[in-house]
This record gives sequence, C-alpha cells and structure tokens, in this order.
Amino acid sequence: MADFGSQFAPKMALSRFVDGQWSPVEMTEVGRLDLHPATHVLHYASECFEGLKAYRNGDGAHIFRLDKHVDRMQRSAAHLLLPQPPAEVLREAIIRTVREANEVIPDYPGSLYLRPTLFGTDPNIGSAAKASQSAMLYVLASPVGDYFSGGVKPLRVLVDDSNMRCAPGFGQVKTGGNYAAALRHVVEAREHHGADQVLFCPGGDVQETAAANFLLIHDDTVITKPLDGSILAGVTRDSLLTLARGLGLTVEERNFDVRELMEWVPRSEAALSGTAAVLTPVGSLLYKGREIHFSNDGQMGHWTQRLRNGLTSIQRGDGDDTHGWRNLV
Ligand SMILES: *Cc1c(COP(=O)(O)O)cnc(C)c1O
Repeated sequence: MADFGSQFAPKMALSRFVDGQWSPVEMTEVGRLDLHPATHVLHYASECFEGLKAYRNGDGAHIFRLDKHVDRMQRSAAHLLLPQPPAEVLREAIIRTVREANEVIPDYPGSLYLRPTLFGTDPNIGSAAKASQSAMLYVLASPVGDYFSGGVKPLRVLVDDSNMRCAPGFGQVKTGGNYAAALRHVVEAREHHGADQVLFCPGGDVQETAAANFLLIHDDTVITKPLDGSILAGVTRDSLLTLARGLGLTVEERNFDVRELMEWVPRSEAALSGTAAVLTPVGSLLYKGREIHFSNDGQMGHWTQRLRNGLTSIQRGDGDDTHGWRNLV
C-alpha cells in the first residue's frame, strides 16, 4: 500500500460557513480547492483538524469513538476563534464520507483514516488581529494499511528539556500551527541525533511528542501527564487508560520531570499513543549525549502488548465493545 495518507477516497464531505450559517453538507470530488490568495488560513494559520479511523465491519463500517473526536474538533475551533461547526454537522460530514468510501475501506489491519479539516477563509490580509468570519470544513478520507507491516521497531526518542512543542495553552488544540512550531526540533533531532521522535519536556516537565502522547509503565502503574492544556487530549490515550484500569493497572495522571523519568527508564516500559500507530513502544531515550534503554528495548513490552491487543481487538471488531466505542455507520 502507498505511504500513509498519500492515497484518497474519491469523495469528501464539505460545508462552508458563510453569512453566519453552515451550508448543507455536500459530497464533492477530492480535487483542487479554489481559494483566494488572501485566504485567512494561508496567512494567519486559522486551522484545526482531526484524525480518526473507520474500520470495515461486515458490509459496512464502524467509526472509532466518533463523538470524542467531534467534541475535540469543536473545542479546537473555539480555542482558535474559528466558526464552530455544530456537532450534527461534523457527525454528518464524517459519516457520509465513510459511507461514500465504503468500497475502498481496507480489511483489518487496514482502515479508513479520516481527516476532518476546518479553516478560516476570509479573503483579507489585513485581518491579522481579527477572527475569520467565514470558514470551510471538509472530511478527507484515506485508505491506510497496517502501520506495523514492517514489524515493530521500538523508537529512539530524544528528550528535549529546553524547547516547547507549541505556545502555552495551545497544547490541547489540534492545529497545524503546533506542528509547524515543532517541526524544526523533530527534523534536527533526526539529523543530529538519529532520533525517531522528540519528547518535549520544557523546563523538565515531561509532556508529549509532536504527534503522540507519552505513557510510562512502571511497577504495574501507568504514568502520564494530566490534561492541563499543555498536551493534546488523545482519544487513544483515554481509551488505553480506560483499558489499563480494567486490566488492574493503576493509572496515575500526574506531572513528572526528566530527573524522575531517567531514574525509572531501566525498570520501565514506555510507549507513544495515537490514532495512526495505536501504541508504539519506545526502546530508548537520548539525553545529554547518552542513550538509556527501557526494560523492553528491542521488543514490545509486556504491558504495552496487552494494552495494544485490548484496543486493537475492539477496533478490529471482535472484542466486546463494553464501552460503546464502535459507532456503526
Ligand atoms: C493527534 C495527536 C495526538 C494523538 O491523539 P489521538 O486522539 O490519540 O489520535 C497526540 N498528540 C498530538 C500533539 C496530536 O496532534
């Protein structure tokens, strides 16, 4: 299969916010967008997005935790002062995109990755200090394969205790601007240190990577940063913490610093969570010129594996959906 996210279903749902109203959701060809060069988002980054998946389910599909993603997109829009699409508009746009793409949803472990996207469209380069009063919303769909088809390779992660991933308070917003702010640090970590990802720990506070939450598992306890606005409220994170409690693990959502983290490393496993990769093991941390290995280096840790299996069996459609996470469409 093509690279993740480079292949698209032929149609996408689209709605525009003009004159204070959302237009009826329509299905359009995935093709070129006609945008004025002064479009607000192109100058002032008025944009947010979501990433969620639909899985094949018999003749149809189910969407994993649709409402949680709808809710988060509404909060991202509000934080960026973008016109906020009503939950009903977002739900309809996502569901219709999935139904329309039914033919191209791959079988598990493949899925249909969905990318609802919202941005400001006022054609005015003088509106730097003004919220866009018009917007476009669409839901792009991309059939994706098994993220781990090449096998699971635990990641080398650079601990960065000086840079921030994004501006304070924006960590909870899923916006392209945050990715723009983090990109330089991620690319430099790869080029200068051979790292796969950067764990942002500004002032020593262990937060997350550019696109995934960080979970540490130590002595039957899952430790992860609380949702204090500095990190994204990952739906995968929430799902895994729920499953962890069900498996008898203790869940501690609390702040911890790099010094504590480095002490735990040799006796802990660690993983990154997110929709694309579910749960990816972290093998080692690079810090101050040294590489320190987790207990599971070279493979997936025991608890990482169990949590991952628990989640993927629900997503695949054969585990009991005790939490009501599969939305049939
Ligand atoms: C999307 C994202 C995540 C993962 O969120 P999920 O809902 O689990 O996919 C984590 N961190 C950041 C910064 C993100 O943008």
